[in-house]
Formats: sequence, structure tokens, C-alpha cells
Amino acid sequence: MLTCTRRLEWDAMHRIPRHESKCAAWHGHRYAAEITCGAEALDDRGRVIDFGVIKQLVGGWIDERWDHTAILMEGDPDPAVPIIAASNAAAGRPVYWMAAHPTAENLVAELARVAQRLLAPTGVRVVSIRLWETPNGSAEWRASSEPTAIAKAPAATSAPKPSPTSIRPSR
Ligand SMILES: [Zn+2]
Repeated sequence: MLTCTRRLEWDAMHRIPRHESKCAAWHGHRYAAEITCGAEALDDRGRVIDFGVIKQLVGGWIDERWDHTAILMEGDPDPAVPIIAASNAAAGRPVYWMAAHPTAENLVAELARVAQRLLAPTGVRVVSIRLWETPNGSAEWRASSEPTAIAKAPAATSAPKPSPTSIRPSR
């Protein structure tokens, strides 16, 4: 199989409810995703897929839904959530709701589902996606890795679980 990879970048804010450290605070990232597509044979112009098609289809989806807005967890009890949602909607940037914590892992799983659906008509396979939350931290989805279903977030009212260690991770 031959593959090609298109990098896409966007800016968004989030927080990780019940995070043990500073990621529970509102903050932003310059996200990047590397979309790798594969095909058994190249097209008649020597490509797996034109990079511009990935940018147009997947990048277009990202621009519309994830860029310059907030990626929020449904049921996040933070009092700022409805204010952020209303403020962004007024600015023409509706927030993006996720059923699970908006971590790099859950974002890449979400993006994999989207990219597979959007690129299906082209006939190429989405082989893998690496999503960078910071220059040093990323999560990867691979077509062969199952399951890709995201973990459902616990009820917002549940008490935070005690941390198994004294480590205070920071994403
Ligand atoms: Zn973060």
C-alpha cells in the first residue's frame, strides 16, 4: 500500500473536567492533525489522493466545527459552559459538543469517524490519524485498531475518583 499524509491545523479552547491538574482550567491549543490515506495503486496522475481534497473535505469540516471555538463535554458542570456557548454562538462560532472528555484521544477518534465518512466517496482508505494537542503530546488512531468508540463520560454529578497515584499530569 502507498500512503500520503496531509497536515491540518486549527485553534480551539477546551478544558478536561475532573482533570487532576491544570487541564481542568480553560485554555487553548494550536491543534494539528496528520491525516494519512492509503491506496493499493496510484491514480493516473501518480497520487494516492490529491492533498487538496483532504484539505477541502476534512479541513473544511474542521474549519467549520473545531476552529476558533470551544470543544466542550456534554454535562460539563462548569458555570462558564453556557456562557461560552452563548457567546460563541453570538459570534457565529457555535461550540462543539462531545459525549466524552475532549482529550486528544477522544478528538482523534471523533476525527477518524468524520474523515472516514467524508473521504469514503473518493475510494481511498483513511489509514491513520495523529492529532497533536501540543508540540510534545499527540494521540493516534489507526484503521486496524479496534474499538474506536469513545468512552462515555460519567455523569457530571459523580464525585471525582481519587487519583491512583500522586502524579499530577499536565497535557
Ligand atoms: Zn488542553
